[in-house]
Amino acid sequence: MADFMIPTQFGLSDERKMMLETLKKFKEKECPKDKIGEWDEHDHFPNEVWKKLGQEGFLGACFPEEYGGTGGNIIDETLITEEISNSFSAMGLCYLTGVCFGGMSILKYGTEAQKKKYLPPLIAGDWNFALSLTEPGGGTDILGALKSRAVEQPDGSFIANGAKIFTTGLHTANTDVFIARTDDIPNKPARGLSIFLIDRDNIGKQETDGELMNQPFCKGVTYNKIKKLGSHILASFEVAFEDLKLAKDQMLGERGAGWYSLLATLNNERIVCAAIAVGLAQGCLEEANQYAKEREAFGKPIGQYQAIQHQLADMATEIELGRLITYKAAWMQSMGMECGVEATMAKMYTSDMAFRCRHSAAPTAL
Ligand SMILES: Cc1cc2nc3c(=O)[nH]c(=O)nc-3n(C[C@H](O)[C@H](O)[C@H](O)COP(=O)(O)OP(=O)(O)OC[C@H]3O[C@@H](n4cnc5c(N)ncnc54)[C@H](O)[C@@H]3O)c2cc1C
Repeated sequence: MADFMIPTQFGLSDERKMMLETLKKFKEKECPKDKIGEWDEHDHFPNEVWKKLGQEGFLGACFPEEYGGTGGNIIDETLITEEISNSFSAMGLCYLTGVCFGGMSILKYGTEAQKKKYLPPLIAGDWNFALSLTEPGGGTDILGALKSRAVEQPDGSFIANGAKIFTTGLHTANTDVFIARTDDIPNKPARGLSIFLIDRDNIGKQETDGELMNQPFCKGVTYNKIKKLGSHILASFEVAFEDLKLAKDQMLGERGAGWYSLLATLNNERIVCAAIAVGLAQGCLEEANQYAKEREAFGKPIGQYQAIQHQLADMATEIELGRLITYKAAWMQSMGMECGVEATMAKMYTSDMAFRCRHSAAPTAL
């Protein structure tokens, strides 16, 4: 049973406290802030950090022991993402694409063969995932915009065509989780979508500094980097699918039920996105706090002026509120409760909250 967010107790278990302490030390050693700045400047994804996160057990925290995990759940996923994202939100985003989009979807809907193939290497830090859901025609109204199609062939395989946009981390991914329409059900757009797992041809060779960028992901899948304002460490891509052949066993979950499977993945995504925002905002607060102690104006540290103290207090209060709704949504999911509303509230509140904290800390934080 989950060990916090029951009405009378808000604390973390000793095991979870220890896990977070270990992760803090890991971050200080493996990804100091000056290194993160360098990686961002050069659009470089540090595969070695991903690998070490696996070796230290952080990628397996929410997976069952039989696949190499440590038997935790979404609460561990949330806590780890929050801690990583405090100073390294791009790695938090990678945790989202790998563990949530890939791993948790496969754990929930995969066949035993798919779980055995994908989960152990993901947990070990040898594998990563991307998600190709959003299309150029629009992301919010995904059902209205989704035009990608996978047409069944006489031998039971599929041929897929379509275009996606914003696929994040495809250059570091070994497998792309691709959503396409396989069946037309009149007046029921939510039915008839299916999910496929597409493996990179040159498996094991993740992108390093654009080395693989000019090569197709596999026969029938090509991609181009999109310009972004931030998170350059984990680039996003537009992707073209042209006459891509998909075997029947590449399908994840039930044919035509892809939308309903995605809803569970997307609840998990909302909670993990909220954890990224909470971690990022906490990082801003810590930087701003430190700066307020060090920077002097008119004869004393600026943190001793009430105008600055108000800003820091507002940030701390908002972060704590964001953390509470995020943990509540995670706890509900861990208990198997319907958490769509809370997960969505958490993502909505914390993303605006992180933006405000970043703005308050802006003159001091970067
Ligand atoms: C950094 C980044 C990474 C991403 N990573 C991935 C990924 O890995 N995989 C993936 O598949 N997708 C990814 N996405 C896509 C993301 O899910 C979409 O951007 C999102 O769903 C919004 O879609 P859109 O950008 O097409 O905006 P639109 O849907 O075009 O919306 C534009 C504006 O219109 C507003 N709007 C839309 N509908 C309504 C309405 N009914 N009423 C009022 N306002 C409305 C929206 O709020 C928004 O302000 C990523 C996006 C970003 C920015």
